[in-house]
Amino acid sequence: MTSAQFPHHTAEPQHGLPPAASGLELTKVHGTGARRVIALDRVSVAFQRGQFTAIMGPSGSGKSTLMQCLAGLDAPTSGSARIGAMELSRLSDRQLTRLRRERIGFIFQSFHLLPTLTVAENITLPLGIAGRRPDPQWLDQVVTTLGLTDRLTHRPGELSGGQQQRVACARALAGRPEIVFADEPTGNLDTRSGAEVLSLLGQMVHHMGQTIVMVTHDPVAAAYADRVVFLADGHIVDDLWKPETSQLLKRMQRSAVPRGQQPHG
Ligand code: ADP
Ligand code: MG
Repeated sequence: MTSAQFPHHTAEPQHGLPPAASGLELTKVHGTGARRVIALDRVSVAFQRGQFTAIMGPSGSGKSTLMQCLAGLDAPTSGSARIGAMELSRLSDRQLTRLRRERIGFIFQSFHLLPTLTVAENITLPLGIAGRRPDPQWLDQVVTTLGLTDRLTHRPGELSGGQQQRVACARALAGRPEIVFADEPTGNLDTRSGAEVLSLLGQMVHHMGQTIVMVTHDPVAAAYADRVVFLADGHIVDDLWKPETSQLLKRMQRSAVPRGQQPHG
């Protein structure tokens, strides 16, 4: 795959800055012998700042593995991953933990909120752990955008699933990270609250300049993104700019057909 084929797939600097995150020839092999699985096969990809990108593909295509290698949660078997200009393999475990804490936000399918803390305390907890003080103006903007202003003193147990995931989004964004990685953030939500969360993530990118990379197998969710990188069998097989849901549904159906049985043309 070349960047000429996929114009948004370039690792070229933008406004003199390196991409927010990038992977070069990332390969990840899980297990050995008969259990050996190549989850990622020499994947190169770059994510520009201020864009909302979805990594899409069928279950088992390597989406989560790619995200974990890019975000320094897992080490690739070969190849390199960067956050900004920093190559992750050069960092010690301690430095890597610090980089994740200070420069990356994470959102997962399950919200991972602490039930005994208030919404406000949950949102600022990672900053507190990092010994950082929140920027009150930024935090206020995040809380307002995510519609949490009148929920700050509530406990997670008093909130709906959609509200809890909005709290997890606020927590990921509170430290104004360079990039937010979200793995199936709407996987536990009903359609309506899922749509709400996705549209709010879009607003964080388009109105507040955040950079978000979201893993999803759901074409409806992926259609909220500016760009959709399509994975199949550990390879990038498509890179689409502002695709329609219908286009993604078709792409997904095509990918569901086992290799070797694809119709020609
Ligand atoms: P996706 O997120 O697209 O569903 P994953 O990245 O989770 O895919 O997995 C890609 C492939 O790697 C799958 O075949 C999966 O079974 C395998 N895999 C993922 N994690 C592990 C692991 N820790 N040990 C063994 N195999 C794994
Ligand atoms: Mg996954």
